[in-house]
Amino acid sequence: MTRLSTAKALGNRVADAYALITTGMRTRRCPENCGLMVRYRAVSDAEAKRLDAMAADHDGRHQSRI
Ligand SMILES: [Zn+2]
Repeated sequence: MTRLSTAKALGNRVADAYALITTGMRTRRCPENCGLMVRYRAVSDAEAKRLDAMAADHDGRHQSRI
C-alpha cells in the first residue's frame, strides 16, 4: 500500500466516522478498495449482515475491472 492510498484510507475512515456521528449511518467498504461502499441506517440485523456480505464479497465487480 502506498503512502497516498494509506492517507486516502485514513480519510475514508474519518468520513465514515463523521457519517456515523452526524447521520447514524454505518459504512462498509470493499476490503480490496475497488471503490464499492455500502452505507445503511436502521436496518434489521439480517439486512445488515446481507449488506456486510455484499460489501466484502463481490468478485464479479473486481473481475470486470481487469
Ligand atoms: Zn470490491
